[in-house]
Amino acid sequence: MAESISTLERAIQPGQTDEYMNHAVTSPRLPIPIAEGQLTIHQVPAWQDNFVWLIVSPQRKEAAAVDGPDAKEALAACARLGVRLTTILNTHTHGDHIGINTDLSEKLETIHVIGSASRAREIPGLKQPVSDGDQFELFGTTVQVMLTEGHLNGHVSYLIDNALFCGDTLFGAGCGYLFDGPPVKMLHSLKRFANLPGNTWVFCAHEYTADNLRFAWSVEPDNQQLKERIQHTWVLRSKGEATIPSTIQLELATNPFMRTSSVAIQQALKKAFPERSFASDLEVFAAIRELKDLKRYRNIDDGELPVNIDIV
Ligand code: ZN
Ligand code: FE
Repeated sequence: MAESISTLERAIQPGQTDEYMNHAVTSPRLPIPIAEGQLTIHQVPAWQDNFVWLIVSPQRKEAAAVDGPDAKEALAACARLGVRLTTILNTHTHGDHIGINTDLSEKLETIHVIGSASRAREIPGLKQPVSDGDQFELFGTTVQVMLTEGHLNGHVSYLIDNALFCGDTLFGAGCGYLFDGPPVKMLHSLKRFANLPGNTWVFCAHEYTADNLRFAWSVEPDNQQLKERIQHTWVLRSKGEATIPSTIQLELATNPFMRTSSVAIQQALKKAFPERSFASDLEVFAAIRELKDLKRYRNIDDGELPVNIDIV
């Protein structure tokens, strides 16, 4: 058993191939065991900044992919690991998440596709429609389904042990665009995540953390944990390493979208939108999203950030 896990780990050691060279992450994270080692989570970079998360059962030699812009990288990783891709878990219906279903359309009869019941018709090969509060077994471990809308209607997240697969809802130091919105739905989704244990891993679908942190710092420059996260993130990114997964604890401490009660953030919003009042969480949250969407923070250059270049 132990031997088979270490074989899997060796198989996906970063730096063995150059296939991730076009990706923001050239050196993926080592696999993370969850559910007392029953499952191992593998990070598979795809396209520009997407992550396909492979949930691998070493005993069964099977894998489930959470989303994917296409099937290529996931299949290559499964081949390296000597496991079969038998399941797909979709979080939402954007092309960079269900592309894997389309790519595998000829094999979808043998692949168990799980996705949101409310968007069933748009999920190629869907076998198991799921809704908020549903539970099901994956390789002997229970998966809980959370409806986490705001980015897109019908967006679901999957919680397995202390691993949260949240698609484009929560990102490292940010949250997804409110394509369907409205802000209240996203705020509700993030509040549900905030109530998960602090040590819950956040396996989101994109490497966006550095950009998000630049904005976070623009609204809360005196947050010490945020400064530390920026330092650490700049070190990781300078080496092509991933900042994901993060944890709920880290997001609560540094992610402005989960910090609507921060006085410093509220003051920054008052400065940006002097005509507005911020009497509720929802008004604060909506204004944080609006301010970020203006993208003014992108003018902040690295020299202004609390980054100690010497250690990079
Ligand atoms: Zn996406
Ligand atoms: Fe999306």
